[in-house]
Amino acid sequence: MLNIALFGPPGAGKGTQSEYLIKKFKLFYISTGDILRKELANETKLGLEAKSIIAEGGLVSDEIIVQIIEKTIKNNPDVNGFLFDGFPRTFVQAYILEGLMIKLNTKLDLLISIEVPENESVKRLLKRGKTSGRLDDNEEVIKNRLKEYNDKTLPILNFFKERKTYVSVNGMQSVEQVSTHIVQITNNELSKKLLNIVIFGYPGSGRGSLGKAIAEKYNLEFVATGAMLDEEIKKNTSLGKEVKSLYENGQLVPDEIVIRLIEKKIESTKNAKGFIFKGYPRTLVQSYILDGILKKHGSSINKIIEINVDTLELIKRLDKRSKTEHAMPYDSSTERIVKRLQEHKTKTIPVIEKYKEIHEVVVIDGMNSFERVFEELSMEINSSFKNLK
Ligand code: AMP
Repeated sequence: MLNIALFGPPGAGKGTQSEYLIKKFKLFYISTGDILRKELANETKLGLEAKSIIAEGGLVSDEIIVQIIEKTIKNNPDVNGFLFDGFPRTFVQAYILEGLMIKLNTKLDLLISIEVPENESVKRLLKRGKTSGRLDDNEEVIKNRLKEYNDKTLPILNFFKERKTYVSVNGMQSVEQVSTHIVQITNNELSKKLLNIVIFGYPGSGRGSLGKAIAEKYNLEFVATGAMLDEEIKKNTSLGKEVKSLYENGQLVPDEIVIRLIEKKIESTKNAKGFIFKGYPRTLVQSYILDGILKKHGSSINKIIEINVDTLELIKRLDKRSKTEHAMPYDSSTERIVKRLQEHKTKTIPVIEKYKEIHEVVVIDGMNSFERVFEELSMEINSSFKNLK
């Protein structure tokens, strides 16, 4: 999810910028002012309660605000994220927002403060008052609204500075310039949200070809440690030679080597939206290593996908592959195939069991056609992107 709050005095341009941003980033718009005006127009109990306060330019009670925000969020469970306009406006509301985000298992990513001096606010609101039909866009009430803003709203910026979500934008620029700056800030934030998926499955389950295709579709970097090691073998590097003899004995490559390869890959990846790990981690030790490497980059595993295929089918597929040009050094004999399957069972299956305790593990039936499995994988990736914190 991507959650943004637009902050700033009345007349800063929050509404105008919101219109553009919700389209650009496909966010759900929550403007407490708009909701209250609608309640008012419909003469609901809540609207009538708020009417005189709005007319005087005061702030509606936090109790009313929490109700309308909660209701709106609850009625829109399947969104990419929220754009809040005019909320939070008090310290209490800042805490409310934090609590609501925790409840949704997400967080506020950015509080973007559009800064304009007071005389400019007044000028803009008076101009808007000529056409807006809003009962609070007149000189007397504007004064009150700005006083409320200075007394109760402005001080809450510290709350967001402490949480490092506060960013300011110069609201005196043109509408387009302000939009461009906000888009820049938001894209920068989005780039920090990497999606990390680990694909598990026995050799022959299709995890390689499927993982690669999925990575391409979603602009994710495919990290296949096996292929990276093969590359070394192909180039006949000293590391490659070492790896080759280990492979031929059906043994795993030492962790130090693989760590170096993964680190290099992550550091050299620039524009990918995340990573798909295939064939790593294979042991409990490697699962801790991967957590550590990702943590170093401010990231973590989002989802584990296990592709399930019957043993007989695996043997059939691997045997078939061994007779093609795609044959791997490790599937050149039945003995080696069996050894690899055994390695997976004894070393990698416990990793999946461990992950089940801390991560979401999704099992996909790999006996279906490539297209069908690909489609199911796509659905999983889509939902993970949506839930990206
Ligand atoms: P706005 O459209 O955001 O300028 O809001 C118009 C009026 O609605 C404000 O002057 C307040 O009276 C009321 N209001 C809107 N949002 C809030 C909020 N988060 N907390 C308290 N009052 C609000």
